[in-house]
Amino acid sequence: MTAPNTPNNVLSGRTLSAEIITNDLRPRVEALQAKGITPKLVVVLIGDHAASASYVRQKEKSAAKAGIVSEVWRYEETVTEAEILQVIEKINRDESIHGVIVQLPVPDHISVPAILKAIDPAKDVDGFTPDNVGKLFQGEECLACCTPQGIMHLVRASGVEVSGAHAVVVGRSNIVGKPVAGLLLNANATVTICHSRTRDLSHHTRQADILVVAVGRPNFVTAEHVREGAVVIDVGIHRTEAGKLTGDVDYDSVSPRAKCITPVPGGVGPMTVVSLIQNTIIAAERLAEGKASQ
Ligand code: NDP
Repeated sequence: MTAPNTPNNVLSGRTLSAEIITNDLRPRVEALQAKGITPKLVVVLIGDHAASASYVRQKEKSAAKAGIVSEVWRYEETVTEAEILQVIEKINRDESIHGVIVQLPVPDHISVPAILKAIDPAKDVDGFTPDNVGKLFQGEECLACCTPQGIMHLVRASGVEVSGAHAVVVGRSNIVGKPVAGLLLNANATVTICHSRTRDLSHHTRQADILVVAVGRPNFVTAEHVREGAVVIDVGIHRTEAGKLTGDVDYDSVSPRAKCITPVPGGVGPMTVVSLIQNTIIAAERLAEGKASQ
């Protein structure tokens, strides 16, 4: 895989995701199709959340580019938890479906942990079930969470030697901060995790060879937080009042210091989507391997 650095040090997830689809995922889908298997992803979408609907459209587009089947199963905001659990049970039993995600957020009356526990870990292509998260932290083969996996693709494409590097992750959420720290550790980085109680944040972030920012605050990380030559991955995504998308990193001040930096939009977002497609293909490959060895 070539590093998608343009001369101005932009680490483009848009470019890298297109390369991964063309060079890796489509050939794998074709190999499965030659065995009579087409990977299939089901997205369970509850309610009428504008951002979710937009994410789901991006997932459908990328799925089509990779040659996998994707279906969106839509439910009213008023659907009960029991009904959704029945839907998941049906998907778990359906051998033609290789991956399922329940698009978050879900309405308050539906328990996310209950949903995640119900999903068959072999079809958990978001990588959120306790089984897959546990395996990730034990360094075992698993379906790893999509945003962290996408971040690892970007970090590798930056050309930085991950093994032995000091990686600093700002944010400790279950969907980004903690799992990306686990993946970086599995890749032999020395990892520091920072959060809202961290004292003297910039003291830590300035030591980073690889800085991953998942704070959820627009333009939070500025030049003073960043060491010269660091690889900076901006996970945040925010829409300004003027309707412009921006990240957690103040791009204009940080970019001149960085070896490379991901843009928003077009950085981590497309890599999250491609990782979902990749996980669906992995799930289909594993099912095919299991059947072949029976
Ligand atoms: P969460 O709100 O779940 O977590 C934010 C983390 O940032 C928390 O761990 C919090 O610490 C930490 N934090 C908050 N304030 C500070 C501070 N002042 N100093 C240091 N740490 C701080 O967010 P997510 O991880 O879900 O998402 C982060 C961002 O990434 C959001 O903008 C989200 O929209 C975006 N995102 C983008 C995705 C993509 O595909 N592009 C996918 C997922 C998320 P504490 O735990 O102590 O509260």
